[in-house]
Amino acid sequence: MQLSSADIHAALRTVKDPDLGKDLVTLNMVKDVRIDGSNIVIGIELTTPACPMKEVIRNDVEAAIQARASAVGAPAAHVTVEYTAKVRAAANKSASNPLPNVKHVIAVGAGKGGVGKSTVSVNLAVGLARMGAKVGLLDGDIYGPSAPTMLGLHELPGAIRNEMLIPFEVHGIRAITIGKLVNPEKALIWRGPMAHGAFKQLALQTEWGALDYLIVDLPPGTGDVPLTLAQLLPLTGAVVVCTPQRVAQDDARRAVRMFQQLDVPVLGVVENMSYFIGDDGKTYDIFGRGGAEIMARTMDLPYLGAIPIHMDLRRNSDEGTPLENWRGNPTLAGELDGVCQRVASRISIITVAGGLIQPTLSVTG
Ligand code: ADP
Repeated sequence: MQLSSADIHAALRTVKDPDLGKDLVTLNMVKDVRIDGSNIVIGIELTTPACPMKEVIRNDVEAAIQARASAVGAPAAHVTVEYTAKVRAAANKSASNPLPNVKHVIAVGAGKGGVGKSTVSVNLAVGLARMGAKVGLLDGDIYGPSAPTMLGLHELPGAIRNEMLIPFEVHGIRAITIGKLVNPEKALIWRGPMAHGAFKQLALQTEWGALDYLIVDLPPGTGDVPLTLAQLLPLTGAVVVCTPQRVAQDDARRAVRMFQQLDVPVLGVVENMSYFIGDDGKTYDIFGRGGAEIMARTMDLPYLGAIPIHMDLRRNSDEGTPLENWRGNPTLAGELDGVCQRVASRISIITVAGGLIQPTLSVTG
């Protein structure tokens, strides 16, 4: 007695994606089933290459198929799970969406400056791209653009084609910043309408091409630009960056309320400068680790992870070499990956909750 494709199908109907809460068949994630005797290959299409649940799903698929094999009296199977990933766009994107090739626009905001909003934006963009996603970064902090330094754009020439800005292709992402369009020595003082216009131009007059995620680094606080962004583009959600201190939480709360008032789902809160690891390997809670997590919980928001204070992070930001953050300290790299995965996972959850595509299953063997 061998396992049939119907057996495999039935087994996969019992395996839930732990984040998305539905089974793999209903979620239309099973793209291929190949049966060769007791060798079974399952092709699963994840909703993001940054899926944090790969190992859990692999183990659950294997266990479900073995359970089925034993239930029908088939010999134990040798199961291989092969992953691909395709980021799904939100089903309810309006027809008037000015960036139809961008699947998700994600804002990164903070209640005040200096908490690491740009650091999180850059590392979120680069981290998601490292995992295989197509990512753009819009440095929308028109009052204090950081991308020229953090991405090392100073020496690169800007380009315009057919009146469209060509984004810089650096560190695996596409990036654009007002910092390359205006004299960096001039203080960037914008009146409301000018801020609106400058941001609009950056967002809409850039040749982004096809993107899975467009990360938008907003100016700190609750000014004109977030409002412009929310009016201009369909946002999947916003990430709020906060340091652990109580005073920082008060500001972050205001940023959360602003997004909520703009009807932008808050994907969650990242705690930056969460803790410091000394040369002795000891961890120091300089600002009171966990404050942002508590704030997230009290506001009923997901907590997206902690980024430590790390000299490499500061140095790589100043030197415009963000990929180095993954080549030095493994704790730093692990925490950055964790934030990227949790953000991607929240995006998938929101997207799937917004509309399911009808399942199809191709079976060969
Ligand atoms: P914001 O965008 O909120 O104003 P930035 O991201 O520009 O803040 O960060 C302010 C400064 O702090 C930058 O020099 C940055 O490199 C540094 N920084 C931010 N987060 C960290 C961290 N976790 N560890 C070390 N330095 C950091």
